[in-house]
Amino acid sequence: MAKIQAIRGMNDILPEQTPVWQFVEDTVRRVLSQYGYQEIRMPVVEQTDLFKRSIGEVTDIVEKEMYTFDDRNGDSLTLRPEGTAGCVRAAEEHGLLFNQTRRLWYTGPMFRHERPQKGRYRQFHQIGVECFGMNGPDIDAELLVLTARLWRALGLSEHTRLEINSIGTSAARREYRQALVAYLSGYRDQLDEDSLRRLESNPLRILDSKHPGTQQLLTDAPRLENYLDQESLDHFSELRSLLDAAGVGYTVNPRLVRGLDYYGKTVFEWVTDSLGAQGTVCAGGRYDGLVEQLGGKPTYAVGFAMGLERLILLLETLDLVPASANGDVDVYVTAMGDSAVPPALALGESLRTALPAARIMSHCGGGSFKSQMKKADRSGARYAVILGENELATASVGLKPLRSDEPQQDVAQAELAGVLKELLGPLTAGR
Ligand code: ATP
Ligand code: MG
Repeated sequence: MAKIQAIRGMNDILPEQTPVWQFVEDTVRRVLSQYGYQEIRMPVVEQTDLFKRSIGEVTDIVEKEMYTFDDRNGDSLTLRPEGTAGCVRAAEEHGLLFNQTRRLWYTGPMFRHERPQKGRYRQFHQIGVECFGMNGPDIDAELLVLTARLWRALGLSEHTRLEINSIGTSAARREYRQALVAYLSGYRDQLDEDSLRRLESNPLRILDSKHPGTQQLLTDAPRLENYLDQESLDHFSELRSLLDAAGVGYTVNPRLVRGLDYYGKTVFEWVTDSLGAQGTVCAGGRYDGLVEQLGGKPTYAVGFAMGLERLILLLETLDLVPASANGDVDVYVTAMGDSAVPPALALGESLRTALPAARIMSHCGGGSFKSQMKKADRSGARYAVILGENELATASVGLKPLRSDEPQQDVAQAELAGVLKELLGPLTAGR
């Protein structure tokens, strides 16, 4: 019978890959906690209307990328394509936004029916951050210094750059949209197919078209910055001063718009030149209108989401995965012969108690000396602990270095933990 395979664009993350995932996730978690952000966990499935009403009916996501289905009650449900909408829904539903500020984050899989390619999948993972109740631009700046700190912690500072823009209020965008459509309508024959379609549905998205001909047309098009309201302009220039003062470098990209309808004022992207077309590793902005749009009170809000697959791809491409993120065990405890099994089990336990940050694997399943040592080697362990009848008789073990030519030594069982502590050096739990 043919074997059943995973769904195209939905990846298994295998044991060899999880250490680098854990490295990234742990680093992000640590940085977010340094700033006092709280984690929130939302369901993966929401009412379809939540996404239609927030992301916007004529966006790429809602038009063609959502996994939508009727459940057994006939309700239309959707696998979340992003986290902001669900986060706002949850925060509102549980009164988290009432007369208070919030700094929240979440992580998990997102689903979009896109054409799978490098850095673009149908199930992918984001870490999202959402801040509520703060007008900014100080909180906008905080999100950007936080992400800059994260790139430093991941060793990616040299490989990411920040682009920012202001897209103003919805009134300003409405006026600009008219001017842009009026201008581009004169060049319909020169527009690429996507842009022609967007001319009717979502003309601002034409600004970030990758098509060279369209980009050429845009050089003489009306400019969004000339339509911005004073408040948005002030907000943006204050944000720039804050970033300058904090030493966070950026470029203003006047054509940066986001693919989701709910953004206004500040928008930003962290991009890399090392991943080809899928170069945006983190994207976000301000969305002061969304909470009200979803039925809540007007609430200031700003946030971002980063794509974990792209960050990991970037670390791997640049060979920046730290050696410690390999998942190898430190010590492999063997048991030669049946009589050695119970004491080996006890020895493993006592080592785990004495060295809580060390990874200690106990051999299971018996076998010859040779086959046990082969497994010890494959585990990646730095040391094998050899426990057989001779060692049992003298309450000792053989301690064999597996990654150097140093000779095996006999160590009294009572002293083993102390000797290993010296040899292994400082270890951090959850490396
Ligand atoms: P793109 O322009 O690359 O399609 P987007 O504007 O659709 O990105 P957002 O909705 O802002 O992306 O999502 C934030 C981040 O999530 C992106 O910058 C990217 O790192 C990641 N991301 C988005 N879609 C995918 C996907 N299909 N596969 C992998 N990562 C993704
Ligand atoms: Mg997209």
